[in-house]
Amino acid sequence: MTEWIEVAGARENNLKNVSLRVPKRQITVFTGVSGSGKSSLVFDTIAAEAQRQLNETFTAFARNYLPRYGRPDVDLIENLSAAIIVDQRRLGGNSRSTVGTITDLYALLRLLFSRAGRPHAGYSNAFSFNDPQGMCPECEGLGRVVTVDLDRFLDRSRSLNEGALLHPGFAVGGMHWGVYALSGFFDLDKRLADYSPEEWRALLYGADAKVPLTWQGGTINAKYEGVVEKFTRLYIKRDVSEMSERNQEVVRRFTKSVTCEACGGARLNPAALESRVNGLNIAEMAAMEAERLVAVLGGVTEPSVAPVVASLRDRLSDLVAIGLGYLSLDRETTTLSGGESQRVKMVRHLSSSLTDMMYVFDEPSVGLHPRDVHRMTELLVKLRDKGNTVLVVEHDPDVIACADHVVDLGPQAGSGGGHVVFQGAVEGLRRADTLTGRCLRLRRPLKTAVRRPTGALRVEDASAHNLKHLTVDVPTGVLTVITGVAGAGKSTLTGVFLGRHPDTIVIDQSAVSTSRRSNIATYTGLLDEIRRLFARANGVSPSLFSTNSTGACPECQGLGVIYTDLAFMDGLKTVCEVCAGRRFKPDVLAHTLRGRTIADVLEMTAAEAADFFPEKRLHPVLRALTEVGLDYITLGQPLSTLSGGECQRVKLATELHRSARVYLLDEPTTGLHMSDVTRLLTTLDRLVDEGNTVVVVEHDLDVVRHADWIIDLGPEGGAKGGEILFQGTPAGLLSHPTSHTARHLRHDLS
Ligand code: ADP
Ligand code: ADP
Ligand code: ZN
Ligand code: ZN
Repeated sequence: MTEWIEVAGARENNLKNVSLRVPKRQITVFTGVSGSGKSSLVFDTIAAEAQRQLNETFTAFARNYLPRYGRPDVDLIENLSAAIIVDQRRLGGNSRSTVGTITDLYALLRLLFSRAGRPHAGYSNAFSFNDPQGMCPECEGLGRVVTVDLDRFLDRSRSLNEGALLHPGFAVGGMHWGVYALSGFFDLDKRLADYSPEEWRALLYGADAKVPLTWQGGTINAKYEGVVEKFTRLYIKRDVSEMSERNQEVVRRFTKSVTCEACGGARLNPAALESRVNGLNIAEMAAMEAERLVAVLGGVTEPSVAPVVASLRDRLSDLVAIGLGYLSLDRETTTLSGGESQRVKMVRHLSSSLTDMMYVFDEPSVGLHPRDVHRMTELLVKLRDKGNTVLVVEHDPDVIACADHVVDLGPQAGSGGGHVVFQGAVEGLRRADTLTGRCLRLRRPLKTAVRRPTGALRVEDASAHNLKHLTVDVPTGVLTVITGVAGAGKSTLTGVFLGRHPDTIVIDQSAVSTSRRSNIATYTGLLDEIRRLFARANGVSPSLFSTNSTGACPECQGLGVIYTDLAFMDGLKTVCEVCAGRRFKPDVLAHTLRGRTIADVLEMTAAEAADFFPEKRLHPVLRALTEVGLDYITLGQPLSTLSGGECQRVKLATELHRSARVYLLDEPTTGLHMSDVTRLLTTLDRLVDEGNTVVVVEHDLDVVRHADWIIDLGPEGGAKGGEILFQGTPAGLLSHPTSHTARHLRHDLS
């Protein structure tokens, strides 16, 4: 007997009084074009209510310390389980947080070493780099130390008199400079480049002497220190957060972070590092790629640790299965991408023994090659089979295929969406007359008429991370797609490319603005034009219609909503009671343009605005917003409410009217429905046809098929990747014997 979560009368954002049932202990995938209301239903309604109900179960005292959730706009939700949201928010933390610590795999490794390590070092804290018992005392467990960057601190072509010490605190004539000048150790007119080894030592590391220094009329016996010693004492050994902003900035400019010499970056003290299991110490195991570590642990046969080893290997296999086999446990979580972060969180939950939870995923296929999507869906199935309810917002056909139940939202985006247009089994969706159904049936052909490159941008001898000394020519004047399984080296290669070609315009998924005052209209420049139109029609000043002016509602400062910040978690948002969300003072709202107030205009979607404004100057931006699939977005929507994929498309839309530029996009299909991908491709085509060079990192096969040129990296992730498998046209890639991308392209076309 299937149990159901019952939702009645959901009205968050664009939802049209939606009622539906979601099966428990099954996988339900929510589909629909971007802006159709998937997040509004899954995150803002179902997951939000689950969190709120859970918080109600705590005592009033405990609740004071928990984030408060407003009641979502819904009549009733019944039969919920506690929700665990596994989203793409990056795993924050500091450099003490690693893949190993966050998945608890490092804790298991410590347990292994405390029992089986020889010589015996102690219990398991003796192997923790976050515990004084285990940490390297030199770097306090960070593996890196900050030192003076001599290349920036010194100008070797100058003498001391010519200002060879570049740090402002050591300026010629100042007190610090005086210590060196009066020390008698140096010829003040000799260029540092000509110093003898002894002179260098004296300059950098001191000579244990006192120097009589005449300073402002008196003489003091200043202790002589080398510049490295002095700088370290004055700036590095001090708590940076206690310095002025200016000094912090100066310190950043003259220092660099290098591997700790004492532990060689291993973070641990000598006792911990001497202890070995099968010839390896814990730092060496933590530095191995997960896939290799599974194999190495297979060789640990000591019976007393068999359960620990089994559990380690089990969970490492989850990491491999989810396409993260190339990560090592010592990898810092701050360096993981959004997709990698989500998959690491997934592994953490897979090992949990909790059942009857509700797991909510936000596009888990992000960053995954078609090869790995399949392995990821197996883990969703594993979660379900442990007795959990799994809700997934997703566009990828292979993920949709693993659903027990599908809820398709639509028919369109924004005010044209918000209905459930199909619910049932995947088979039914494939036959359904909805946008998603039609796209699932569509077969797209391979592009054969490719454009010819106008030239090339070269990257020579790229060897960062796993790259095997690659020399690549990225063709100009065409659409290039960089492909390869996760960990193959795509981001690393584009990073090197950006280093060599810094004038490239990067259009990524990072937030556009952190200010709550910025919205689509201000960011794209539309508002300036609109204010002028209102001013002209009413014979008043344009500034009246700015949310920064005296015309704005004084209570909410033109935001229409009031934010209440909470110490942790998202803040609370309530509609402003003074202006009822209208943002402006009544006298401003008395001015209209063709019957509409400025507040009405800010509530228009881009599509509605395109109909409302005949004025040509507004059209390029409005058309661009439509082209990138954002026609459902309202002009007044704050940028802070946009998803990563939406941010990327807003940036793309504002860039669209330039030419002769190089654009780099990182997985622009993120958050895009299959039908929106067609529009995206049209946009990219237009960019290229206007003389731009467009380089895209992408897994979506529709985009890959549409490329003029493909650079396929691999063959696998991590150490087994970093090579160029193929460069050429899509038709050429098809016959590649070993490339995963080629295999999936063939499969998709058959
Ligand atoms: P999907 O997840 O299907 O892409 P969403 O649920 O995010 O769609 O959005 C549905 C509609 O609600 C869109 O028109 C979107 O612009 C609007 N919307 C979403 N979040 C907000 C918000 N925080 N403020 C105002 N409008 C929003
Ligand atoms: P892709 O973009 O194809 O998924 P990446 O360029 O992210 O691949 O990764 C290629 C290799 O470089 C992998 O082995 C990965 O673990 C490693 N790598 C990527 N970023 C970092 C980093 N910040 N620190 C250490 N290793 C990294
Ligand atoms: Zn150290
Ligand atoms: Zn107000």
